[in-house]
Amino acid sequence: MQTVSKIWMDGKLIPWEKAQIHVLTHTFHYGGGAFEGIRFYETNKGPAVFRLTDHIKRLFYSASVLDMKIPHSRKDLENAVIKLIKAVKLKSGYIRPIVYYGYEKMGLDPIGSPVNTAIAVWPWGAYLGEKPVKTHISKFIRIHPSSTYPEAKLCGHYVNSILASLDARHNNAKEAILLDYKGNVAEGPGENIFMVKNGVLITPKKGSILSGITRDSLKQLAKKLKIQNKEALISKKELLSADEVFFSGTAAEVTAIGSIDGKKISNGKMGPITSSLKDLFTETVHGRVPEFKNWLTYVK
Ligand code: PMP
Repeated sequence: MQTVSKIWMDGKLIPWEKAQIHVLTHTFHYGGGAFEGIRFYETNKGPAVFRLTDHIKRLFYSASVLDMKIPHSRKDLENAVIKLIKAVKLKSGYIRPIVYYGYEKMGLDPIGSPVNTAIAVWPWGAYLGEKPVKTHISKFIRIHPSSTYPEAKLCGHYVNSILASLDARHNNAKEAILLDYKGNVAEGPGENIFMVKNGVLITPKKGSILSGITRDSLKQLAKKLKIQNKEALISKKELLSADEVFFSGTAAEVTAIGSIDGKKISNGKMGPITSSLKDLFTETVHGRVPEFKNWLTYVK
């Protein structure tokens, strides 16, 4: 990975290589931490963070399900992100805030452990590459909504994502698609999923997914493009017979899905609705769409 000069840790900017934790850090063992993935982009007014307030809000929600009291305000963490981007002098990149139960005690009840916070940024290109991706429907189902809080972005949830990613790799695919416990399409290991059928944009209903900030943004952009869109239950059969399928997410942005388990989606290329949404998304994050400028926090 490409490194930068500093990381923000518990209120201070410290050298990248000094940003370390104790091996008995509670979250390292049990996964009871929360994190975010945010991107910032180059605009004609300098770098701008995309939907910073919404991401930090979700971080606080995620921490709250763990009874974790983050020892900073939301505003403090937003300011810390801006300060860090300025300090490392990047024009664009990825931002990873994480809050975790630290080193003090072991045992599953985390209360009594200190709460630590860190924010890292680094340059990160297209997460799944530029071309339509080969996918595999995983043998692992998405985390069950009665086992956890799917809307919280918790570290431990990502074991499910790692297993699905490895399963995809074992099946010669670049990325996994996970079904929910009822057998309907849920999402990718780190992305939401959309399909297009007869000109209508459809994405799985909330319940077993992390309903992403990119997903929300794309629904609003679809409205602007006068593309009819809805949330619905999607069966595996419906997904396989879709005209277009794509992933959405902060890291993946808009990534077309070329095939699912060896079956091409249309001609395997990016479809027209995916392409128009991707283009408008790109314009938006670079600050070129006036009506969505309030999604950007400029690093001044
Ligand atoms: N689902 C999962 C499981 C994810 O990890 C992510 C990435 N945060 C998403 C969906 C997409 O969310 P967002 O658009 O907020 O990045």
